[in-house]
Parts: sequence; structure tokens; C-alpha cells
Amino acid sequence: MTSREPALSVVVPMFNEESVLPLLVERLRPVLDGLGEPYEVVAVDDGSTDATPIVLTGLRRGWPQLRVIRLRRNSGHQAALTAGLFRARGGYVASIDADLQDPPEVLVDMLRLARDETLDIVYGVRADRSTDTAFKRSTAGLYYRLVRRLVGNTVPAQAGDFRLLSRATVEALRELPERRPVLRLVVPWLGFPSGEVRYVRDQRAAGSTKYSLSRMVRLATDSITSFSGAPLRLATWLGAGGMLLCTVMLVLAIIAYFRDSTVTGWASLYVAVLFLGAVQLLCLGLLGEYIARIYTAVQGRPSYFVGSDTADLVEQPAPDA
Ligand code: UDP
Ligand code: MG
Repeated sequence: MTSREPALSVVVPMFNEESVLPLLVERLRPVLDGLGEPYEVVAVDDGSTDATPIVLTGLRRGWPQLRVIRLRRNSGHQAALTAGLFRARGGYVASIDADLQDPPEVLVDMLRLARDETLDIVYGVRADRSTDTAFKRSTAGLYYRLVRRLVGNTVPAQAGDFRLLSRATVEALRELPERRPVLRLVVPWLGFPSGEVRYVRDQRAAGSTKYSLSRMVRLATDSITSFSGAPLRLATWLGAGGMLLCTVMLVLAIIAYFRDSTVTGWASLYVAVLFLGAVQLLCLGLLGEYIARIYTAVQGRPSYFVGSDTADLVEQPAPDA
């Protein structure tokens, strides 16, 4: 194998996707072969516990452009994606889900747009999510509204992790000290010229979602805390509001005292105490969220471990003839 660099790398993170893999190859391979340029597919096996690694090994026999990176443990979609991005060698690096929700054919449009308009980033924007569940759609809508508000409008709405990056963008990402970047926020933040390709999000081709509710909440929390200190300021505002309320109540209490009307209000006292307790706990929790981030950052542990990479096997230094 020559060390000629591929024009395009396609990173596919996967966790327990044995059932979609054959379908994926069936659709992805013709698209990439049709490019007429050297390419590589970087399958990142995120510590799958099903037959995914075996299926991948089998597929590699008939598809030399398929490269398999195996992570030692399940590290999550974002970490798997990052592992693939940082190890990809292509001039452009695209990322796509394994489950065919993002149509591989769109990759060609992304590459063309990036070249024609000399863009560094092309986002796949979901024009239609009618195949997603109502729950997924509404939580996604809320998520994008929130991050656009907190992070800024540079984050394209409805753009997930289906996108194309130039080599320069990948190198810029690599320079960030962050161990656990939320790519869909960090990428727009880099400020490279970007464009969009709209596409219709399909149904999962096989298998079931690997994003549990708790993982979705994790992604949302990471997204907010990695880009904004606004929740911390919430405590200040709540405190200020509470003080104002207290002042008003104090004045009312003094007036009531001088008017000789007895203070009723066990209930209101009780509610006020509970409410303040709740607000304090909430603020503590928010603080904790940021401290946890600091803690993780200080520990400096990598967010994934690469167990093996088939590129390391084939890339033996060939003696020059
Ligand atoms: N994925 C991964 N590691 C995980 C969870 C998911 O690599 O721990 C992959 C998964 O195999 C798929 C992609 O991330 O290729 C998106 O996951 P999924 O389709 O389950 O999420 P959804 O589309 O339901 O949001
Ligand atoms: Mg999916």
C-alpha cells in the first residue's frame, strides 16, 4: 500500500451495530467508489460487545479502503467521533452515523460544495425529521434553541454530527486542549467559512438507538456547561430576586405589626423556607456541574483509548525500490 493520502476520509462511529453494517456498506461503498478518488472509511468500533468487530474484520477482506479503529472500552459517540477525526488522514474528513439515518449520497454534495466554494466546513442540516419520534424532535428542538441562545447563532440549528471538515479544521480541533469537546458546538466556534447541505433524515436502517435518555441529558449538560457560564449567574439573579422579595415582605410585616393585625401565615412561611432551600440546592447542583468539569479537566485523562488501528498494521515502512 502506498502512503498516498486519501482525498476523503469518512469516519463512522459505531457501537453494537452488527445489524446495520452490511446495509451501510451496501449504500456507502458505491457512493465512495463513484468519487473516482482515493478515500478511506474509518470505522471506529466504540467497544462493541456484539459481533460488530467480527463483521468489520470480514468486511475488510473485500474492501481495502475500510480501516478499523477499535477503542478499548465504550467511550460514547462524541469520543468515538473524535478518535476517528484525529486519526483520519484525508484532505477532507466527513463523519456519518452508522445507522444510515444520514444518507451517504449527501457526502458527494458536501465535498462538491466545499471545493466549489472553498469552504472548510459543510454541515448536514436536517430539513425534515418527520421520521424521528415526536419526543426526539421536541427535545432536539429545545436543545438547539438553548445552545443557540447560550453559545451563539454560529451553531446551525438541526445540524448534528453529519458534516465535512477540511484538513485545516481538523488540525485546529486537534490544537484545542479540551479532552471532551462537544463537536457540534466547537466546530462552528472555530470560525472557518462554512456552508450547509440540507437533507432528509431517514429512519434507522436496523437495530435500535444507542442514545439513551441519560446520554441525551449528558450531551445537553456538556453542551451548556462547556460553552456558557450563564447557569452560574442564575444563582446571582435568584439571590437578588429573593432579597427583593424579602424586603417587600419585611415592609409588609412592619406595616401589619403597627396596624395591630396579627400575622397569620404558617403556610407562607413554610413555603418560603422550602422554596429557598430548593433554590440553594439547585445552585449548589449547578456549581457542582462546573466543578465536575474542572475536576475532569485537571485529571487530564484521555476520553478514549485506541486499542488497535488497522492502518498501523498495513503502514509498514516500505523499502524504497
Ligand atoms: N454510537 C457510538 N457510541 C455510543 C453510542 C452511539 O459510537 O456509545 C454511535 C452509533 O453506533 C451510531 C451513532 O453513534 O452510529 C449515533 O447513535 P444512534 O443512531 O444510536 O443515535 P440517534 O440517531 O438515535 O440519536
Ligand atoms: Mg441514529
